[in-house]
Amino acid sequence: MGFNFETMKMTDQPTRITPLAGARPMRRLFDGVRTGVAGALIALLAACTSVPLPPWPATAGTIPPATTPGIPATVATVPLAQPIPARPGFVTASPAAAQAPYSAAVAARFPAPSVAYSTPGLQAGRSSFTSNAEIQSWLRELAASASRSASVKAAVLPIGQSQRGEPLEALVLTRAAGTDAAALIASNRPTVLLIGQQHGDEPAGSEALLVIARELTQGLLQPVLERINVIIVPRANPDGAAAGQRVTVDGLDMNRDHLLLNTPEARALARLTRDYHSTVVVDAHEYIVVDRFLQKFGAVQKYDALLHYATTANLPEFLTKAAEEWYHRPLLAALQAQGLSTEWYYTTSADPADKQITMGGTQPDIGRNVYGLKNAVSLLIETRGVGIGRLHLQRRVHTHVTALASVLASTAQRANELIQLRPYIDKELSAQACKDEALVEAGPTPTHHALTLLDPVTGADKTLRVESNSSLVLQKIKARVRPCGYWLSAASKTAVERLRLHGVQVLRVLETSAMLGDIYRETARPADVRPALRGAMADPAPIIKTEVALMRGVIDAPAGSYYVPLNQPLANLVMAALEPDTHSSYFANHLLESLASSARVMSEPMLKAEELP
Ligand SMILES: [Zn+2]
Repeated sequence: MGFNFETMKMTDQPTRITPLAGARPMRRLFDGVRTGVAGALIALLAACTSVPLPPWPATAGTIPPATTPGIPATVATVPLAQPIPARPGFVTASPAAAQAPYSAAVAARFPAPSVAYSTPGLQAGRSSFTSNAEIQSWLRELAASASRSASVKAAVLPIGQSQRGEPLEALVLTRAAGTDAAALIASNRPTVLLIGQQHGDEPAGSEALLVIARELTQGLLQPVLERINVIIVPRANPDGAAAGQRVTVDGLDMNRDHLLLNTPEARALARLTRDYHSTVVVDAHEYIVVDRFLQKFGAVQKYDALLHYATTANLPEFLTKAAEEWYHRPLLAALQAQGLSTEWYYTTSADPADKQITMGGTQPDIGRNVYGLKNAVSLLIETRGVGIGRLHLQRRVHTHVTALASVLASTAQRANELIQLRPYIDKELSAQACKDEALVEAGPTPTHHALTLLDPVTGADKTLRVESNSSLVLQKIKARVRPCGYWLSAASKTAVERLRLHGVQVLRVLETSAMLGDIYRETARPADVRPALRGAMADPAPIIKTEVALMRGVIDAPAGSYYVPLNQPLANLVMAALEPDTHSSYFANHLLESLASSARVMSEPMLKAEELP
């Protein structure tokens, strides 16, 4: 059944609301799902039973070997305590002490690793990082060399274009029958998506992903492909990289654009994730070393790696457990074995008077959190690199390579569990529609933290007790009963397009239908901005921050309007987008034209509707 946006009639009618009396119990408008009516009738399956979770596997190391058919029970992976050895032709880089924004004593805390990596941007004498054109050639050469071997299939996938017209590309590596999305999904192997350089001034992740790509195609990481598929996007923001700037050309922070999808760069990643069903997503960044930390705390940053996983409202508990036990703990061990120091990811604002630190944010618009809302295990790896040029570059790359190799090995080890985990989570979320309470907004928990930095002169550890916001424990700010779905007006074309890019199921109403629901009535419109932990949000458009009350009534859903059911795996992402009174919502960020453009549907509607392709 086809649907064409070009021919859609924009016949949006104002929503008519018939208020119901007080707190009467919800009246079911429809008692069942009729089937067999004209082909256009979509049966909205009532998710009436909760799905039992599988027993949580025993602690790491005691899991029996996976027994996925066609996949060897045990696979040799890179021993993570060992560095990938140097190869002939590798260069040895030495720290460029002349660039150091701190004393030689601080620099001495970060000796070059025992291995030297070789990418175009890491060559001796280079003053620039690997260029976009060099990345394209690198990916093509690896794909060509992989295709000469019988076992590994590789392809460079065009996934979009940057705002300046640079190609956005992914390298797909697999032992599946092909490199297309259907082949990877049919492979019964989890797919890991590795993303580098969303922020253009954070180059080490990108250089490390080139190393990882080579080791997967022709090196020591190749065995993991017996158990997993890997997709690598070495540079998600090529325009920013070319300009040496954090943001995209239009000034947006693309890492805060993963729910709204206003940038073509974020849209490319959303499409890729939707089509290839990523099971694990790793986002490789670098963090500020000196700058505001010297200004506020009289010290410079210490840790080789800051690590985090998804921390936002409504994440399934199993995902957090998998991120912690299957990934975070092995990551700590792998980095420690290389003599690399780690801490949870945190940052501090640009305000000199604000002396608190905050762990990675809880907003459902950050890549790390949105991939969690898409039911992937979502991990953040940050190295100490922003503002120090090429200083300690081999060590920064080594940190990323070590961490990424650990994630790949953990995924290979847990391939069987990961393949089972995802359908459980998808079913569990679908089953929650119309039931229970869901968080509309949650925030971090204030606490104190013993933060260790470095004395900028002596290089000695300097531990300060600071106020801190922990995103590992979320505080409820606002909660509501989870609706059965959302009604959207026919004019909500942009919001529908963005939801479809995420892979959300959206139905188009074919005949005017009545739905029992709650509409949003504005009670206040406070001045507010989208919060950003590091300082000013790189987003020029002011948001509409609203406060609302819910009014129960009957919604007349005209033909051409939309219904977004919540009995689907992306239910939590839909709530993040469509509850209007948050900083990240589609209404607050102008993707819905008014508060009356959406409503919560509180009883399963009987609809004549078609699913958008
Ligand atoms: Zn970053």
